[in-house]
Amino acid sequence: MNDLQGKVALLTGASRGLGALMAHALAAEGMRLVLVARSADPLMRLADSLRAGGAEAEPVPGDVADAAARERLMARTLERFGRIDVLINNAGIELVGALSDVGDDEIDRLFAVNTVATAQLTRAVLPHMLAQRSGVIVNMASMAGKAAVPYNSIYSASKAAVIHLTLSLRDELVGTGVTASVICPGFVTGTGMYEDLRSEGGMTAPALVGTVSDRKVVRTVLKAIRRGGPEYIVYRGPIRPLIALATLFPRMYSVFNSMTGLRTAFARAARASNKG
Ligand code: NAP
Repeated sequence: MNDLQGKVALLTGASRGLGALMAHALAAEGMRLVLVARSADPLMRLADSLRAGGAEAEPVPGDVADAAARERLMARTLERFGRIDVLINNAGIELVGALSDVGDDEIDRLFAVNTVATAQLTRAVLPHMLAQRSGVIVNMASMAGKAAVPYNSIYSASKAAVIHLTLSLRDELVGTGVTASVICPGFVTGTGMYEDLRSEGGMTAPALVGTVSDRKVVRTVLKAIRRGGPEYIVYRGPIRPLIALATLFPRMYSVFNSMTGLRTAFARAARASNKG
């Protein structure tokens, strides 16, 4: 989708972090926006500031894990703009901790937000996109969904599911004019959940792994909307060969996690949140 001017994007997780930054970037492209998150105040403030810059932005506060909220969101989008061109499933939550120390509710909640809501919102927009014979779905996964790290099993599993969901769907959509892409960032600096973990004192990305900037993630989302590629890894260096090696020889995950310091970093973060 090359010309974004006037296209309608539904963006979840817009109240802060990467989503708020994405909202500004999409508005700068002339897109009309529906902004979703649970926290109404920051969402309203974001919409106000986008409107002050001349953009059209509709804040719709709600929990993406709630089926009734998703229905309201779809109804409001169609009522306001009459179409939907781009869905960005960006809302997500993190859970660092040993599997035996995370709570039942935390596990259910994380899959409900990161994975089930992504699948259900995608299902909700698809009939409209298929009828238009055009549309773009962009799902935010994570490097955690590509490479298994300890003390992050539930989050990693939820993001691995998002990657497979996206790539399976993508193949179902061949020839329909609708594309699905997945974004897999590593540790992101500038804003977002890694910065929150870092400032709370629990997590530091190991030097050998490194970080990527929030702006690079946002540029990658725009690239995905324009080009519709299958999977975008946002990482400091060329990591695909190592992932391929670990896919062939899964014992390598453990070697990498020790060598790079990822095991120590996640163990420390798990202890800091009393889950390790
Ligand atoms: P963040 O700063 O914690 O922001 C998360 C956003 O999701 C917030 O706007 C939050 O708003 C919203 N959200 C959470 N639960 C929601 C729910 N149930 N319903 C509606 N909105 C909800 O996180 P971020 O770093 O920007 O992350 C954005 C995406 O990138 C996530 O999918 C994350 O997994 C992925 N990612 C981030 C990093 C990183 O290092 N930052 C790395 C890889 C992948 P409310 O709390 O107001 O609802």
